[in-house]
Formats: sequence, C-alpha cells, structure tokens
Amino acid sequence: MKQIAQNQGLVLKTSDYKEQAVIATILTKNGINNYIIKGAKKISGGTRLLTIVPSLISFSSTINCGLNTITEGTLLKSYLEIKNDLKKMLYTQAIIEKILIFSPQVTDSLIFYNFIIELFDMLNTQIDPLILEVIFELKLTYLIGIAPNVNRCLKCGERLDDGVFSVVDGGVYHRRCVSSSIDLNEEQTKILKLLYLIKLKNVDNQFYSLVKDDLDDISKIVDYYYRKHLDFSSNSKKIINEILGKKLEKKA
Ligand SMILES: [Zn+2]
Repeated sequence: MKQIAQNQGLVLKTSDYKEQAVIATILTKNGINNYIIKGAKKISGGTRLLTIVPSLISFSSTINCGLNTITEGTLLKSYLEIKNDLKKMLYTQAIIEKILIFSPQVTDSLIFYNFIIELFDMLNTQIDPLILEVIFELKLTYLIGIAPNVNRCLKCGERLDDGVFSVVDGGVYHRRCVSSSIDLNEEQTKILKLLYLIKLKNVDNQFYSLVKDDLDDISKIVDYYYRKHLDFSSNSKKIINEILGKKLEKKA
C-alpha cells in the first residue's frame, strides 16, 4: 500500500529528472526534502506551476522505493514581487543558498520553517531585500547554534549596551576590555544588535532609515563572521556584487 501524505512547503530548487519529471527541493515543517514531480516539464502540465522558484505549495506525496513523489499539488503563493524584481530575486537566491546548506544544522525545524515563510512574505513587499537578508543571516546564526554574544562583555562578563564587536572572538567587549582587533565601533555594534534582535514583522521604513547607512558595512561583517565561524563563503553574493556592481558602474 502506498501511503499518501499531505504537506505544505517552499520550493527552493529544481533539477531535471527522467523524462518529463523534475526533482524539487522543498522546505517543509520537517526540514528539507527532495520530491519527484512528474510531468513538470510539459508546457500544458498542471504540475509545471509548482516548480517555479520560489513558490509556496500544498501537495500530496507518496513514498516509493525511498523516493518521495508528488502526486498532486496547488500553488499557494507565487511571490510575484520577488520574481519581477532582479534585486529581490538576487538576494532571495543568496538566502536560498544558505537555507539549502545550513538547514540540516537547524535544531528546531518548525520555528525555522515559520521564520522562512514570514521572511519570504516580507521579501515580497517593498522592503529593501538587503536588510532582510542581513536579518536572516544574523538570526540563522542563532538557529544553527553559532550566535554571537551580544549582551555581555567577553572579557569581564558584565552586561553592556555600548560594546564594540569582534568577529573572530564572536561577540562584544567594553572598549576598555578589548585586547584584539575590533570590527564594529559602538554605534555600528548597536545597529548590529538591533538587526539581530528585531522581529521581522517590525521591519518597516522607519526601521530601515535607522540602519540603512550602516547596512553595507554590517553585511560585509556578517559575511566575515560566516567565513570565520562556518568556513562559508557565498557564491550568490559574489554574483550579486558582480551584477549590481556593474549596474552601478553603468549608471556612473
Ligand atoms: Zn568588559
């Protein structure tokens, strides 16, 4: 007997499979799984719509010889604002890259799933995608257990509100307690903490204007944090810099 399971998930990646089928990588409440979607390469096939990244779908699936196969599905959200905007799409790809790599290290799949769905809803609005990406990257460090220590001085252990941040040491110091090199001054460290702690639903234009001047610097520091503590360097971000960098040059 085949068992049919009902599920819902975010389609993050697809690759070709036999004949008219594709394999879709889908984030669900239980983590990431691969599913075969039959007929997805047919122009007239109803399943083709389920494979356009990113999409939120509900679906029924069966397990056959260890392979999950989607038998039918419905498109719930197509994220058209993201798909129609190059900048949003590029940052979304950078986020997807990290979801694919780091979700196996996430300890609570349900919290992670709800967070990602909320994030994609926000990406699909007029909010700047860079700020959402930086917030995602900072919160992801917490969800995979390598969060920076932002509340207490790494040297003396006292709670502090006006620390300076060190990537290598993974946290904050009083200026007087620092012995190594620092990466963010007091003002930027405050912004980093705001970005790390803010709830997604509270990210609005007012918050954006508060942090926007420091966003590029903090984004680079977060990249450095991932290199140092996870040995991870983003390919998608290199592409973003190439594409958006070139566009800027053309404008100048
Ligand atoms: Zn101290």
